Amino acid sequence: MSASSIYFSPDADAFRAWTRRFLQEHVAPRLNDWESQRRIPRDIWKLFGEHGLLGLHYPVVYGGRDLPFFHSVAYLEELGRLGNGGFRGAMSVHSYMATTYLHLAGDHRQKSEYLKPAVQGDMIAALAITEPQAGSDVAGIRCAARATGDRYTIRGSKAFVTNGLTADFMVTAVRTGDGDGSRSISLFVVDARAPGVTRTPVEKLGWHCSDTASVEFDDVVVGEDQLLGRRNSGFLWIMKAFQLERIAAALLALGEIDYTLELARRYADERQVFGTTILGLQVVRHRLAELMSHTAAARQLAYHAAWLYSQGQQAMSQCAMAKLRATELAVEVAGQCLQLFGGHGYLAEAPISRVFRDTRLVTIAGGSSEIMREIIAESEL
Ligand SMILES: Cc1cc2nc3c(=O)[nH]c(=O)nc-3n(C[C@H](O)[C@H](O)[C@H](O)COP(=O)(O)OP(=O)(O)OC[C@H]3O[C@@H](n4cnc5c(N)ncnc54)[C@H](O)[C@@H]3O)c2cc1C
Repeated sequence: MSASSIYFSPDADAFRAWTRRFLQEHVAPRLNDWESQRRIPRDIWKLFGEHGLLGLHYPVVYGGRDLPFFHSVAYLEELGRLGNGGFRGAMSVHSYMATTYLHLAGDHRQKSEYLKPAVQGDMIAALAITEPQAGSDVAGIRCAARATGDRYTIRGSKAFVTNGLTADFMVTAVRTGDGDGSRSISLFVVDARAPGVTRTPVEKLGWHCSDTASVEFDDVVVGEDQLLGRRNSGFLWIMKAFQLERIAAALLALGEIDYTLELARRYADERQVFGTTILGLQVVRHRLAELMSHTAAARQLAYHAAWLYSQGQQAMSQCAMAKLRATELAVEVAGQCLQLFGGHGYLAEAPISRVFRDTRLVTIAGGSSEIMREIIAESEL
C-alpha cells in the first residue's frame, strides 16, 4: 500500500509497516505451536493490549487509541496476512465484533468495566448470537431472559462462540419480549464464569488455535445493569454492528489472499517441471495474474465500504458486497493455489493446506454468501 493511496495517510502506512514487523516477530513464529495446542496463550492478548492493538478505533478514555479507521483497515489486512484463520478470528471477534456492542450501546460503567480491560488485554471478549437452530436467521433465536424485579434469568443455548472457552465475558443476544422476531431481542454482557454458564469446546475442520465453544445458559442471573442499550433494541444494534463485522471479514480475507498468492508465487518460482519453473509456464503466470486482478478489484470495493463506514454512512449493501467478493475470492484463491503445489500442498503441515482448511469458513461465518446476496438484492433491486 503506497502513500499515494486516497485512503491511507503516511501515518497509516507507517503503522501498517510497524504492525507487519510486530506480527512477524511476536506471532508468526508461535502459530504452529498454538495450532497444535488448540489455544492462543493469554500473554499474547496482554501483549497486543500493551501495544494498543486491541483498541485502535476506541476512545482514549477506555484505553483505545482513537486512530482514523484506516489504521484498523491496515491492521485487519495484516492480521489476515499471517495466513492463520484461527488467530485472525480470535483477535477480530474480540476487537471488531464483541466489544463493538459495548462501544455502541454500553453506558460509561459498562465500558469502564468491560471495554477498557478488553482493550488493555486483561479480559477476553466473545460474542454469542448464533444458536444451534438459528444462525443466518438471527431473529429466530430462542435463548431467553425472563425479568424478575431488577434481574433477568437467562436460559438457552448458543453455538459456535469464538473465544468461548477463554472469554471473560460474552456479549449475548437473548429474547426479552413475548413476541417472536426481531423486536424482542436484547443484548446482555454476561460474565463467562457466572453460575449456570457451561462452555464446551467443539472440534473444527480448521481454525485450530481459536477456541470455539457451545455455551449453555442454565438459569444464569444477570442484573438490569448488564443490559446493553434499551430492552428489546438488540436487533438494531446487531444490524448496525454487522456492517463493521463484514468489512472486517472482507479485509481479513484480502490479507490472507495476499499471503496465499505470495506462497504460491514463491513455490512456483522454485519448483522445476519439464526443464522450467512452474512460474515459467504461461498458463500459471496467467492464472496468478487473473487472481491478482480480482484481488485488486475486491480490495478497492472493501476500501470503499470501509470509507463509507468511516464517514458514518449507512453502507449495508456495500459492506455485504465487500464481504461477498473478498471471501468468495479467498476460497477460490486457496483452491487454485493449492493446485499449484501439487501433492506437496496436500500435506497436513504445508502452510497452503492450512489456508485451504481455514479459508473454507469465510463464506459461511459472519453472514454467509447467500445472506450477503439477499441483503444486496433487497437493497439494490
Ligand atoms: C468456527 C466458527 C466460528 C464462529 N464464531 C461465531 C461467534 O463468535 N459468534 C456467533 O454468534 N456465531 C459464530 N459463528 C456462527 C456463524 O456466524 C454461523 O455459522 C453463520 O451465521 C451461519 O449460520 P448457521 O451455521 O446456523 O447456518 P444456517 O443459517 O442454518 O444456514 C445453512 C445454509 O443455508 C443457507 N441459507 C440460510 N438462509 C438462507 C436464505 N435466506 N437464502 C439462501 N440460503 C440461505 C446458508 O447460507 C447456509 O449455506 C461461528 C461459526 C463457526 C463455524
